[in-house]
This record gives sequence, C-alpha cells and structure tokens, in this order.
Amino acid sequence: VIFWAAMAESSEKHYKYKDPKQPINIRIKDLISRMTLEEKIGQMVQIDRTVASFEVMKKYKIGSILSGGGSVPAKEASPEAWVDMVNDFQRGSLSTRLGIPMIYGIDAVHGNNNVYKATIFPHNVGLGATRQVDMDPQLVKRIGAATALEVRATGIQYVFAPCIAVCRDPRWGRCYESYSEDPKIVRAMTEIVSALQGELPANSRKGVPYVAGNKNVAACAKHFVGDGGTTKGINENNTVINRHGLLSIHMGGYYNAIIKGVSTIMVSYSSWNGEKMHANRQLITGFLKNTLRFRGFVISDWQGIDRITSPPHLNYSYSIQAGVSAGIDMIMIPYNYTEFIDGLTYQVKNKIIPISRIDDAVRRILRVKFIMGLFEKPLADYSLVHELGSQEHRELAREAVRKSLVLLKNGEHADNPVLPLPKKAPKILVAGTHADNLGNQCGGWTIEWQGLTGNNLTSGTTILTAIKNTVDPKTEVVYLENPDANFVKSNEFSYAIVVVGEPPYAETFGDSLNLTIPEPGPSTITNVCGAVKCIVIVISGRPVVIQPYVAQIDALVAAWLPGTEGQGVADVLFGDYGFTGKLPRTWFKTVDQLPMNFGDLHYDPLFPFGFGLTTEPTKAN
Ligand code: BGC
Repeated sequence: VIFWAAMAESSEKHYKYKDPKQPINIRIKDLISRMTLEEKIGQMVQIDRTVASFEVMKKYKIGSILSGGGSVPAKEASPEAWVDMVNDFQRGSLSTRLGIPMIYGIDAVHGNNNVYKATIFPHNVGLGATRQVDMDPQLVKRIGAATALEVRATGIQYVFAPCIAVCRDPRWGRCYESYSEDPKIVRAMTEIVSALQGELPANSRKGVPYVAGNKNVAACAKHFVGDGGTTKGINENNTVINRHGLLSIHMGGYYNAIIKGVSTIMVSYSSWNGEKMHANRQLITGFLKNTLRFRGFVISDWQGIDRITSPPHLNYSYSIQAGVSAGIDMIMIPYNYTEFIDGLTYQVKNKIIPISRIDDAVRRILRVKFIMGLFEKPLADYSLVHELGSQEHRELAREAVRKSLVLLKNGEHADNPVLPLPKKAPKILVAGTHADNLGNQCGGWTIEWQGLTGNNLTSGTTILTAIKNTVDPKTEVVYLENPDANFVKSNEFSYAIVVVGEPPYAETFGDSLNLTIPEPGPSTITNVCGAVKCIVIVISGRPVVIQPYVAQIDALVAAWLPGTEGQGVADVLFGDYGFTGKLPRTWFKTVDQLPMNFGDLHYDPLFPFGFGLTTEPTKAN
C-alpha cells in the first residue's frame, strides 16, 4: 500500500499539465485526458459572486465567477477585501481533485467601474470622439493598460470589455458603450485589446489568445454580432441586414480583436434576421471558430441561452442543446446552474451533444487559463492595490476627458468666439442637474449596474468643483441647480455655464424613443440662456434633442459621459487646452430622422459625423 501510494504521489508530480515547461497544447491534452465529464462541464459554467462560495466551487468544480451588474460587494469594499474574496473562491477551486483554477470576470467597461474609488474613464462614445489624426488609438490603449492594472489590483483576471458594438441608432440604451457609428473607428479602437491583455508577440499564431502576465487581464469582445444594429435601437432585439452588411458594418472589430489575440468573445442577446445569436451555429462555430480561426473561448451573455426561447427558460433542454451546439463554450449564469449541469450531462450521456463539443469548449477555456499563467499563480496578492484610482490614472482620465469634448457651437461668428472663457470674471453662474453630480457624470455601469446619481458613490471631481479650481481666486462662482430667469437677470453674471443631460442608465433601461433631455434640463437652458451669455455642456451617452435650443445657446459642448475626472472639462473650457474632439456619431435634428448614419442617402443632420470646432489654448489666461 505504501509502495502504491508513493508511486501515485510521484506520478502526480509528473502530471504534465502541472509542468510550466511543457508546451501549452501538451498541458491541455494531459489535463483533459484526466477530467471526468462532471469536471469538464463544471469548467463551462460561470456563476454569480452572490451564489459562489469555497464550497460551491469545490462541489461543482465551477470554472468561472463574475460580478455582474449590481452584484458587487459593499461599495466601500477596499481593493484588499476584493482580493481576499476572489482568493477565497479560488481556494475552493484549487481544492478540487485536479486543482483547476477558476477565472473571475467583471464588467470593467470604463475603468474598473464596479469598485469604489477606481478611476472612471469616459464611456466608449467619448473615447470615439478622441481620435486624432488617422484614428490613432494610442490614448485608448493607455486607458486599457490602466484599466487592466486597476482590475488586477482587486484580484480579478478577466474583463467583459471592450464592447465593440457599432451603434447605428442612438435610441439604443447601450449606444454609449459603442465607440462610434463608424465601423472604421470601432475597428481601430479594438486595439485596446492589446493593452488590456498585453502586446501580442510578433510570431504568434493568428487566433490564439494571449495575456501577457499578471498586470494584464483576459479581454472579451462583445456582443457577437450585430448588437448595435437592431431595429429602432431596441435592446436585445432583431438586426435585419444582409450578410454583406453584417460583415462590413458589424464584424470589423472582431477581425481586429482576433488578430490581437483576444481571449474571449461574448455572444449577443440580439437576433440576426430573426435567429437568436445564441443559437447561431453558422456564425459562432462556422464563421468565428472555423473561418476566423478564433481559438479563445466563446461566452454566452447573462442567461443568454435561457433567452433562446421566448419567453426565456421555456424549454431549457432545448436551450442547452441549441446554445452548446452553436458553439458557446462558457455559459454565463445559466438560469440555474445545477439544472444546467444536470441537463448538459444528460445530453452528453445520451449522445445528443457529442463529447467532442464538450472537449472543444474545455480546451478553449483551459487554454486561456494556461496562457495567462493562472495555474502557476492562481492567488492574487496586494502588490497592485496602490494602482486603484492612482494619481497617474486620474491624470490619464483627465486627458481623455479633454480630448473627448466636442465643440458644436462657439458664438455666432468664427471671429467672435465665446470659448475659451476668461478665468478672471467678477461673478459667474454655474447651473444644471449635471454640474455637481458625479453619478450623472459617470453614467451607467458605475458602482451600480444602472449607475447612481449624487456625489457619494465614488471619488472624483465634479464639473462645478473643477470650475472653482480653475477660475481666478477672486472670481465669485454662484451655483444653482435650476435658477429662474429673474434671478439670472437680476444678478450681474459675466457668463453662465449650464450643465444638463441624461440621467444614468444601462441596457434596456436606456432605450429611448424620444431622446429628450429630461426636465428641468431644458428649462434651465431656457431660463439661463435667455438672460445671460451661456455655455451649455451636454452630458449624455448619445446625441439628444438639442435643435430647439441651439439658437439661444452661445456655445455648445458635447461632453458624453466623462467619468470621475471633471477637471478635464474645465481644462478645455478655460483654454488651458484646446478643443480637438470630433463627433463619433451623427447628431440628428429630430428623432424621426433616425436611424441616420453618415453615408446615408438623405443625410441631413444638425451636426454631421466628424464635426467638431477647435480652439487654441490661451497661454495669457
Ligand atoms: C450584458 C453584458 C455583461 C453581462 C455581465 C449582461 O446583461 O449584456 O454586456 O457583460 O451582463 O454583467
């Protein structure tokens, strides 16, 4: 007995999969050959943090965990507390028979936005406005590298980003997650993958995922494919377009992401010409895996396979079969993970789904885990916690804000511009629902799934504070959220800055058919601009109805959803830097023009795609 035990122990030491000197393909092959069906199916499951525990990870051999929108720990949780939490789950995975580490994912879509005190960068629509000459994505890449560090600081190794949707209709509630209506800009911005994951070595094989090390994260290009093309921008709806249109408008980002070694791709809830993407074998297996030779893993969206049927979860065994057969490798939040495990086990045992499909899925998942070194270093430490919300990252976010601002109007004549503003003025007015509200500035996917309004959600600088920081110490800054016209008239303000816009929202909650700025925003514009020279800053995830007010407004700025570093807005308003941003989207006159994208036959926008006035920095200020 002692002899056999000793033999078993020594051969365990020689398990090839445990040996980092072995080529990854050998390690994968060795590990798969040792796995039971139960262990394989466990790898394919991603559960939410709120149902995970050491015991659950161990018992069900779960491959992955996520903090979905709204399932983050107490908002004040320190980065150390996040690390401890992730490690605790990981220890459950490591205590399984084969000790396969889990991978933890999070929606870090504008910085590590679920974590209190993280740096919140502008949402993608704003980054789409930053492109300089030739769509240079360098800024976005620096943001990607910073985001990876802030995510790793909390022990997390995987982000559900970038969203490379090409939003073709601003009525879509996720339009701000899209860099642009222009496939070329989206494709260029997909370079962020090589910053999140690290720059791909020159001799890499196309389609093989790559993550440089523990200062990088596995990325996820989403949502495959056509998510931004649904009719009227209705979230998770149907994209009606021919194959050429699908490939030329919506696929470009995926080509580039795969070239950059993206580790994972998330399937879209939407349908293509009536067929649910989660059941689309032709596109997932046929195109993505076979034609494009993508070797990372395909992940479903949250309960995505449940929603193959309508209503969701109508026929779960059908959903399991359709989703897994289509080529989905990891199932994000199966409606009920034990039901999913039982259902898939049954289908494999009864040869409804071939074991080769399961092996393909597990191989892909393990490949990412091996490549990123999770087997060698499964547990996180505190060595990166100082990166969270660091001064350097805040400076970078501030720079991004400056470059994302698009100047749409600057006085009536080019020879008499309103901006940049003088810092020295006796008395100025700041007004509007968005002037002193970090939550509004950050938008959805910030601490909470739907975002929050108010200033206590995270740390940063509101635009009001930024203005106060920037003007001459002798300038009196009066702030009123919604002043009436008489008040404005009876004071002798040099000028007024009005900051209004959309409240935070995410996904379907942001779908809007009217795209109006909610009250009191429009009244504030009218009250203030009727009485004094006014600069209006619109905080929104997309173009909104502005045409009725443009004539009263002296200068108009689109600031998108700038995030925590409001100082970037003041930097440009007062001329420390110039305006350089260009519209990443067409700005419509009226919603009945929608959808309207540049290149359309009857293109008649208020401000065309690519528009943006410039100013020079004023050194004399
Ligand atoms: C969204 C995805 C997101 C996932 C996890 C889903 O509702 O569509 O974009 O990554 O939730 O939070």
